[in-house]
Amino acid sequence: MKILITGGAGFIGSHLADALITQGHSVLAMDDFSTGKHENIAHLEGHPLFSIVGADIADESIVRECVAAADRVYHLASAVGVRLVVEQPVRTIETIVHGTSVVLKACSRYRKPVLITSTSEVYGKSGKVPFSEDDDLVIGPSHRRRWGYACSKALDEFLAMAYWHHSHVPVVITRLFNTVGPRQTGQYGMVLPRFVQQALKDEPLTVYGDGSQTRCFCHVKDVVDGLMKLMELPAARGQVFNIGNREEVSIRELAERVIRATGSRSTIKLVPFEDAYGPDFEDMQRRVPDLSKIERAAGYRPKYSLEDIISDIVEYYVRKRDREASIR
Ligand code: UDP
Repeated sequence: MKILITGGAGFIGSHLADALITQGHSVLAMDDFSTGKHENIAHLEGHPLFSIVGADIADESIVRECVAAADRVYHLASAVGVRLVVEQPVRTIETIVHGTSVVLKACSRYRKPVLITSTSEVYGKSGKVPFSEDDDLVIGPSHRRRWGYACSKALDEFLAMAYWHHSHVPVVITRLFNTVGPRQTGQYGMVLPRFVQQALKDEPLTVYGDGSQTRCFCHVKDVVDGLMKLMELPAARGQVFNIGNREEVSIRELAERVIRATGSRSTIKLVPFEDAYGPDFEDMQRRVPDLSKIERAAGYRPKYSLEDIISDIVEYYVRKRDREASIR
């Protein structure tokens, strides 16, 4: 099959391209390289099953052309990371809402199966544990920029559902919990690559708040497996699925584990949220996925433990450091 991945040069998109090509599919990646990177797909360039179009998701005619040529569409192009969301709120909201609208319109026109990637951020600041797909979404006030991301992604979901109900566009919606792994950059705030890079330089690990907040980290390869299973499941269409891993860890413990895994001399430095993200920032204390729906429907089971994840990311950054040192 020919598969279109919007955001195909991004962290998750490039891993998805690898997995699809391994299965013998041909991949057309589309990326504007705003947060996507050439180095994520450098190993695929020249591969007979891979091609890349450098274009913005807002470009309706290119999106239409790419969708028309594809048998399946994975829509991953998005603004990513809490830092980017807080620093560039207009771009965040416009990219998310407009980009998804363009993709859904084209998929409706050509009746192509499409998978929309949403986020666990849409659960907002609900205190429920774990988060299930039917839960209410509890989003904070509009003067707090973080919620603009959650709200835009929720709007994408409503739009996708509207296409499903109104025009029977074959669409499935996935809510990704904290996804991590090799190729993820710490540049947009993501905690694990930041901690690993800090640890490898023996710099203090910057734990925001008191570090008691928890997250459940899922290896990108498990996430990709979930995405591919849901795409090929006709019964999943018109539905929302969580994808993630249940293993919960506090951010302080995560920092300690990264220090141990790297054998670093780093210490832990507590940084108030206000210093990290400016005033009015709200973090969520816990975010745990209920995975029973995807387990039942698609036989999804994450294979990678947090230990595996940390060691994979450490290995990736050690190799990258050594490669860069040998070039200098
Ligand atoms: N975090 C941290 N130090 C950092 C970056 C992030 O303590 O250098 C915290 C962040 O405040 C949050 C958690 O780690 O509580 C996960 O952050 P990330 O941005 O990776 O994902 P989020 O779950 O916030 O979307």
